[in-house]
Amino acid sequence: MMATGPLTHLEIAASLVATDVDKSTVFRVLQDLISAGLARRLDVGDHTWRYERASSIPTGPSGHAHPHLLCVDCGSVTCLADAKVELKVPRAVGDIEEVILKGHCQPCREANR
Ligand SMILES: [Zn+2]
Ligand SMILES: [Zn+2]
Repeated sequence: MMATGPLTHLEIAASLVATDVDKSTVFRVLQDLISAGLARRLDVGDHTWRYERASSIPTGPSGHAHPHLLCVDCGSVTCLADAKVELKVPRAVGDIEEVILKGHCQPCREANR
């Protein structure tokens, strides 16, 4: 499966249709992969869990996963595996789990030219 960003449960299930795996099985397997540390999930704020392979996640010294770009035009989520976002968050504020950047993905930027 070639993916440029994390996939939703439905997208994963859809790409497995040919293999006859049912959706609830996919969901269970995803939970298993997460507990085993092989996958992680993120929520960009649209109440949809997206999943990605843990091996595609370079974590910096801070332990943060890579940031993601949420396209405000089409709602797609792109992994910014090479992007470095340094956050200086005071401990008193809390713990940061996700860095979500909002913007326009390449296809949308092209289309709006
Ligand atoms: Zn877009
Ligand atoms: Zn990602």
